[in-house]
Parts: sequence; structure tokens; C-alpha cells
Amino acid sequence: MTLYDSIVIGAGPAGITAALYLVRSGCTVALVEQMTPGGQVLQTEAIENYPGFPKGIKGWELADTFAAHLDELTLDKFTGGVSSMSSADGVHSLTLDSGQTLSGRTVIVCSGAKHKALGVADEKRLTGHGVSYCAVCDGNFFRGQEVAVVGGGNTALEESLYLAKIAAKVYIIHRRDAFRGAKVYQERIASMPEKISLITNTVVDSLQGEGDLTGLTLRDVNTQATRLLPVTGLFVFVGYEPATGFLPPAVEKNKQGFVLTDAEMRTSLAGVFAAGDVRDKMCRQVVTAVGDGATAAQAAFVYLEQLHA
Ligand code: NAP
Repeated sequence: MTLYDSIVIGAGPAGITAALYLVRSGCTVALVEQMTPGGQVLQTEAIENYPGFPKGIKGWELADTFAAHLDELTLDKFTGGVSSMSSADGVHSLTLDSGQTLSGRTVIVCSGAKHKALGVADEKRLTGHGVSYCAVCDGNFFRGQEVAVVGGGNTALEESLYLAKIAAKVYIIHRRDAFRGAKVYQERIASMPEKISLITNTVVDSLQGEGDLTGLTLRDVNTQATRLLPVTGLFVFVGYEPATGFLPPAVEKNKQGFVLTDAEMRTSLAGVFAAGDVRDKMCRQVVTAVGDGATAAQAAFVYLEQLHA
């Protein structure tokens, strides 16, 4: 079996950048991705804060340019999820869902994060029947209808602006009255009250609808008063949780499960690095994922050189 210099897990912005830097350093690289290259960028309508695109760029377009760059690289690509990882004598072995195993001297974990569920009754049953976690994927099903978005972060605000172009009305339901999302989005939302209404200090208590979603029962967290909001779509954007289920305990994580690294993206397990959204950090953006990927690759290269010295 090939012993790769590095195995990169995930082909989002962090993983693609790490692979690019490693290949250009002369390393042998395996890249494992379970879906299409691009990661969460593919689920984002437009990216406005990546330098070089003053008018913004569609998520799928940026993902396409990343994938085209990836296609130019000489590396081995594997499609599938990673189910487990073990390490012995400086060699890290990954088992893929297919049962295939891969071995590398270093591993760069760029497995990203997946959306969190709201955690209300019937959410699972109504997913695909009105409940969604991706406006770009499902927004069009709600053309001309009234929809709700839950959350107060950048994703909720950004995707509400996208949905406002399709839906008749968007209600943003947030459990506080202060938003984490960027001021630029808050101002844009405030400028279109006829399309987007803010419902603050409010949570979703339950979902209505037998076959498809017909409405939400909302509760004011101050007064505890409840009311029904009739909507046919509910978009849940309440944050992400890291995709780290396959990592051994030797790779330390924070309370939320994000991987702890130092400034050079080194984890607590020698030879294993982490980059992008899977990492414990303050700012989760495409631009920081790309930076993490480059740093992790450089640190892995230095580690490999020390092994060979
Ligand atoms: P986030 O920043 O963690 O925000 C999650 C939001 O959901 C918060 O407002 C939170 O409320 C709310 N929330 C969490 N659990 C909830 C629950 N059970 N019920 C109701 N509300 C709940 O997540 P995100 O917006 O997905 O962003 C994730 C990361 O990606 C962030 O670092 C963000 O900046 C970044 N991002 C950046 C961009 C951009 O720069 N354009 C776009 C998208 C995402 P509280 O505020 O009360 O905690």
C-alpha cells in the first residue's frame, strides 16, 4: 500500500489549499472528499468578502474555480467519508466508509462542519417538507411564499437576503435582540422591511403540519406568550458542528468538538494538522480557511523534512 507524505481530508477551501501547497512542495498527496469539491461555499449564494471579487462571486462559481485548480494537481483523489483513523509508529491510517484504507506520514484534517438542527419536535419528519438547512438548494421551492429563518448569525442574515429575492416574505426569528451577523447585512435587512421582518426575543416552540409544514408556534422569551406564524418554509441557520467523529481521542478538541491547534495548525497528535472550519478559532470564513490550509501544509512539510533529516 502507498504510504503518502500527506493525506488531506476534505476538499473545501482549506483542503484544496493544503493539497495545492503540499503538491507544489513535492509531497505525495491523497485527498479524500465525500462530496463535490467546494465545501460549504457550494451552499452559499454569494461571497462578498473574498479579496479579488469587488462585486462578490457566486458560491458555485468560486467552488468551480477551486475545483479547476485542484484538477491541475498531481495527487490521488478518493471519494467517500472517513470512518476512522488510527496512528502507530508515525504512520496514520484512515479507513474510508467503503472499507478502503489509506496511510500517510501526515494528515491534514479539513473536514469542516455540518449544520446544527434546531432541536424541536417533528423537525426531522418535516425536513424536505418545508424544513431546510440550505437556502441555495431549496429556496426556489418557496417562490412567492412566506418563509421563516431561525438564527442571528452571518448565515441567517446572508441567506435571508437571498431568500428575500425569491419568497414573498421572510421572517427572521432570533432568540435575542442583538445579532451576531455583520453590520452590513443588518443594515441591508433594515432597509427592506416590506420583504424581511425581524421577530426578536422569540423561539420556535413547535412545528405545524401533517404532510408539509404549515406554520410555527413561536414563543416570546420575555412574556412567554405564544402565537402561530403561518409559513410554508423554515430555514434553520443556528450554527454548525464540526465533522470530527472519525478522529481518535489523541486529537484534542474543545467542548463543542472543534479541533484544538497551535498557530501552525498542529494538533495534539504529532503529524496531524487541522485547518478551516473544523478548527477551534474565532473567524470562520473562506479566506481564513484558505490561510489555515496553506499554514497547515507548510507545517506538515517542515514536519516531513524533520522526519527525513
Ligand atoms: P453562528 O455565528 O454560530 O450563529 C448561530 C446563530 O444561531 C446565533 O445567532 C445563535 O443565537 C443562534 N442559535 C444557536 N442555537 C440556537 C437555537 N437552539 N435556537 C435558536 N437560535 C439559536 O453560526 P453561523 O451564522 O452559521 O456562522 C458560522 C460561522 O461562519 C461564523 O463564524 C460566521 O461568521 C461564519 N460565516 C461567515 C459568513 C460571511 O462572512 N459572509 C457567512 C456565513 C457564515 P445567539 O446569537 O443568541 O447565540
